[in-house]
Amino acid sequence: MANTIQAIRGMNDLLPEQSPAWQQVEAVIRRVAASYGYSEIRMPVLESTQLFKRSIGEVTDIVEKEMYTFDDRNGESVTLRPEGTASCVRAGNQHGLLYNQIQRLWYMGPMFRYERPQKGRYRQFHQFGIETFGLDSADADAEVILLSARLWREFGIADQVELQLNSLGSNEARANYRNALKAYLSGYESELDEDSKRRLESNPLRILDSKDENTQKILEGAPSLSEYWDAESKEHFEQLTARLEAAGISYTLNERLVRGLDYYNRTVFEWVTTALGAQGTVCAGGRYDGLVEQLGGKATPAVGFAMGMERLVLLLQEQGKLTPRRVVDAYLMPLGEEAELNAPRIAEQLRNELPELRLVSHCGGGSMKKQMKKADKSGAQVALIIGADEIAQQQVTVKPLRTAEEQQTLGWQALIEFLQPLTRG
Ligand code: ATP
Ligand code: MG
Repeated sequence: MANTIQAIRGMNDLLPEQSPAWQQVEAVIRRVAASYGYSEIRMPVLESTQLFKRSIGEVTDIVEKEMYTFDDRNGESVTLRPEGTASCVRAGNQHGLLYNQIQRLWYMGPMFRYERPQKGRYRQFHQFGIETFGLDSADADAEVILLSARLWREFGIADQVELQLNSLGSNEARANYRNALKAYLSGYESELDEDSKRRLESNPLRILDSKDENTQKILEGAPSLSEYWDAESKEHFEQLTARLEAAGISYTLNERLVRGLDYYNRTVFEWVTTALGAQGTVCAGGRYDGLVEQLGGKATPAVGFAMGMERLVLLLQEQGKLTPRRVVDAYLMPLGEEAELNAPRIAEQLRNELPELRLVSHCGGGSMKKQMKKADKSGAQVALIIGADEIAQQQVTVKPLRTAEEQQTLGWQALIEFLQPLTRG
């Protein structure tokens, strides 16, 4: 076994026993996204490195130390996407989806970041994201937040997540605040943690995120972001919070919330849970009115979020909220040569009649006992037994595997009627 090749650290296989839970989560997400009129977009996982440098920002954690970047055989620098928004905007610009139009888009798929793997933090992880283009009014921000809130309700975890909300103001307001914060923190430079010291020059807003206790103390006296909001952003934010309140969505104003990506302006938000330890942010997003233009398109306002699917699935599992569908309903057991010859045909006919039936047709023959073991292990509700007699009479013997009910031998029509309800289980 010494030579068995292992997966790359932080990149997980999703095993058959876990995939039903993921499929259940994905199905709810697709349905909810569709119920708001969003369309799916699928982007490549590999993009030109420039795309992320220009959008996420050169001095962010992601670009500085988390990207999987390498030269392809042509010597061109490419990067495994660390997030979806930049690719979505790139695709929108490239295909003219954003020009003078409103677009409501969603995507779901793997993202890649070179981070220290731990619970809720992986090197390949998955995000569901939505992006709304062409709308600058606060009702678009409200819609994006309401869509995420609906997901929590659908999953039965609304009481497990808290909405934290902030506004970064206009680019100018944000820049003014950045200077004020930098000026204030410079007075305490020697007392800051190492990361924050480094960020003082490059990205002082990120210091607000510092987990260091002493830095947090210093921040208590720092100027507050809301004092720097421009009048229009303030009004936009008030319109958003009024709409959320009218819709019954509660939130906490968190003036320290600034997000780790450079492209945000005005609204930023996170849905946070205390149930997952340190990796508590399940969903994060905000407005990014400058990004489309920055990536070469016509100026187009936009707002969206990305949801960490692993964290969502973990939370749902810990709360016991996942009840995935059965994988197998019925297990067809042929006993004897005549039955073995006809089993594939009978299985096909059953699938013709009942397209939703999940039917495993036993392969490889063997005794009744051996086949029954396999049937039981498959998770099927019933075994469908065919022997020479059944073949001759065009009947099937149905043996319930999960209840004490008697087995019974049924004709074709009666069999179909018997199996029908199982397909809805
Ligand atoms: P964090 O503060 O946890 O590092 P982030 O600010 O880097 O998160 P975003 O870039 O906003 O995260 O991504 C949106 C969401 O994607 C996060 O809220 C989280 O749920 C999920 N996510 C981000 N990085 C990872 C990762 N390495 N593994 C699993 N999920 C992740
Ligand atoms: Mg991160």
